[in-house]
Amino acid sequence: MTTSIIGFPRIGEHRELKFATEHYWKKRATQEELLTTAKQLRAQHWAKQKAAGIDLIPVGDFSFFDTTLDAAYLFNIVPDRYKSLGLDSLDEYFALARGYQSETASVKALPMKKWFNTNYHYIVPEFDDQTDVKLVGSKLFDEITEAKDQGIENPKAVIVGPYTLLKLSIFKGHKQASDFAASLTTAYSELLAKLNTQGINWLQLDEPALSFDQSEADIALFAKIYDKLLAAKKDVKVLLQTYFGDVRDSYQTITKLPFDGIGLDFVATKENIKLVKQDGFPADKVLFAGVVNGKNIWRNHYVTTIETLKSLNVAGDVVLSSSCSLQHVPYDASLETNLPKSVQRHLAFAYQKLDELVELDAIFQGHDQKVLAVNNELFSTIRHPENQQVKTRIDHLTPADYTRLPERSKREKIQKDVFHLPELPTTTIGSFPQTKDVRQNRSKLRKGEITRAEYDAFNQEKIKRIIKFQEDAGVDVLVHGEYERNDMVEYFGEKLDGFVFTQNGWVQSYGSRGVKPPIIWGDVSRNEPITVDTTVFANKLTDHLVKGMLTGPVTIFNWSFPREDITPEQSVTQIALAIRDEVLDLEAHDIKIIQIDELALRENLPLRKSDWYSAYLDWAVPAFRLVHSGVKPETQIHTHMCYSEFGDIIQAIDNLDADVISFEASRSDLSLIDQLVAADFQTEVGPGVYDIHSPRIPSVEELEEIIKRIIAKLPAAKVWINPDCGLKTRSEKEAFEAVTNMVEAAKKVRSSL
Ligand code: GLN
Ligand code: ZN
Repeated sequence: MTTSIIGFPRIGEHRELKFATEHYWKKRATQEELLTTAKQLRAQHWAKQKAAGIDLIPVGDFSFFDTTLDAAYLFNIVPDRYKSLGLDSLDEYFALARGYQSETASVKALPMKKWFNTNYHYIVPEFDDQTDVKLVGSKLFDEITEAKDQGIENPKAVIVGPYTLLKLSIFKGHKQASDFAASLTTAYSELLAKLNTQGINWLQLDEPALSFDQSEADIALFAKIYDKLLAAKKDVKVLLQTYFGDVRDSYQTITKLPFDGIGLDFVATKENIKLVKQDGFPADKVLFAGVVNGKNIWRNHYVTTIETLKSLNVAGDVVLSSSCSLQHVPYDASLETNLPKSVQRHLAFAYQKLDELVELDAIFQGHDQKVLAVNNELFSTIRHPENQQVKTRIDHLTPADYTRLPERSKREKIQKDVFHLPELPTTTIGSFPQTKDVRQNRSKLRKGEITRAEYDAFNQEKIKRIIKFQEDAGVDVLVHGEYERNDMVEYFGEKLDGFVFTQNGWVQSYGSRGVKPPIIWGDVSRNEPITVDTTVFANKLTDHLVKGMLTGPVTIFNWSFPREDITPEQSVTQIALAIRDEVLDLEAHDIKIIQIDELALRENLPLRKSDWYSAYLDWAVPAFRLVHSGVKPETQIHTHMCYSEFGDIIQAIDNLDADVISFEASRSDLSLIDQLVAADFQTEVGPGVYDIHSPRIPSVEELEEIIKRIIAKLPAAKVWINPDCGLKTRSEKEAFEAVTNMVEAAKKVRSSL
């Protein structure tokens, strides 16, 4: 057996790449300096893998922004509007990723999209009819030379495969994906030839798109590309690497094609194990067995892994590998010295996962029984005592706990009678600008420079100011501004039992941006109020309605590292009960409208549509219903969603049974509204009337126009007026002017009804 990983993190153990890149963007560092940092990081990453004993070390997984963009760039998939900027190659690459603005030119960035079912985002390559696909770049080849210079004798070249590249791209002209298959295959054949002259042993082509549902046309396209590409193969062995899901639609095809190796994810799903057992695995191919989880941070349970491997009964060679690139986990668990030992010893970040692969290899060959014993001991001791109260609550849940009464249409009438809101009521999504002073106040508290009382007093002044602003502007449903929150998930996690936090557990979200996800360690419960004080404080300042602001259970779960010893459904139900307690507490404190944000509802949607409900929505939607089913009919429940398209899960969203939902809509030109109409959507709805991501202030006239367009399609009695999303990233001036105009526009349209 041999060991391999699919890819390694690249942001740097201490986010060196982030800082170097951002310095370069701000012109505080030269290109030379950035390139040097990058080179040092690659060297460190390779050295680390070599020292750990990994046999097939990936080269090409490094990126200044995104590897899908790297592949597009290598093959000249660069629209003319970027080329005509006349920039040098690195700056042109960054222009594609982030847009470019100078005195004379202004080009927007290519779109960014969620990378499969992870929280990483890739840049969407753009083809048009002028696109001339050919091998023009040298990044991969240069990095191979560099790796060899640094003593990596047998690097494994890694790049996104042609099929996935086509599947993830957008096509702006008449030509579609299949029209580019031939030229792209030729370009990849050239790449193969070049790697051949470089003496490369293995080329890994990443084809995670095989984990999506595949039509017959998809499979035909895949086969067409690879028939030709593999025919051009010489000494370089080609590994077809899949991950994030199963290859049920294409297993027959890929096992027949002359690949030298096939990489399968045995962690994300049991389906691949079934396929190999049922249909067998060709003896003349190497199986790259993805057994060490690249998406989560827990230690591998060796006994189970070895059993799985043995049960496969594979006749040919097996290489032990990660389930996906390790870029989705942080670097080093041993840096987390603030965590109790009892927690720390269960963690495996990228460095620890390298060791796990090598240890598993040794155990499999029967060498290292001592390591096995230690690992068994870790898994046989109780991690965290079960929370009996939580268990009892869950055991006693009945269908009634998931059903709010009376039904929504009746509640709608009751609430209209109690609230006396005008038609087209105005509100915002929750946060107001997190200005420098707000962040400074938080950091002073963290560093112990101010007391808790001083910290709270500062935020209270902010709340007073923002309540006053909303009153003056004439907003109908007010918010407190969320000044106390660093992050909408971390803030709740910190106040709930069952979560732990890392100091340095950064993973790349996109480009230079990272996130530090909370870890769900034990049973989750709410032991004290979370938002009650702040919300009540704001509520007492005004006669207007103030909306409480919570993060929903599915979003909290989806943006954390989940437990693996209980199911996602169990974990989400625990979080739902905790947030339910907070909802009822707010209601008991006279808060009449409560918003429960579920912007990440779509985040963990299975890759295959056929699994959407059975594997996810069938428990995710009830979890949300559990949160609010206990409130009185006259308490109004709002939710908010943004970041993605919702058209295809609109029924599930209506089924959340909220009273009101605000959506991001303005960037997609309100196309969502047609989908709502088509689906006979019943929830009252606030389609965002302006894009909060842009500093631009929308005028009253333009907003009036948008509102009129909305109520031309949706009944005005069901429509709310709000921005696309929270205002925390804007300046106060921008936020105040835009909200003032929005209220003005709503009033004008209202008076014309
Ligand atoms: N209530 C949150 C805010 O206003 C929602 C955040 C979001 O949708 N991204 O910031
Ligand atoms: Zn939002």
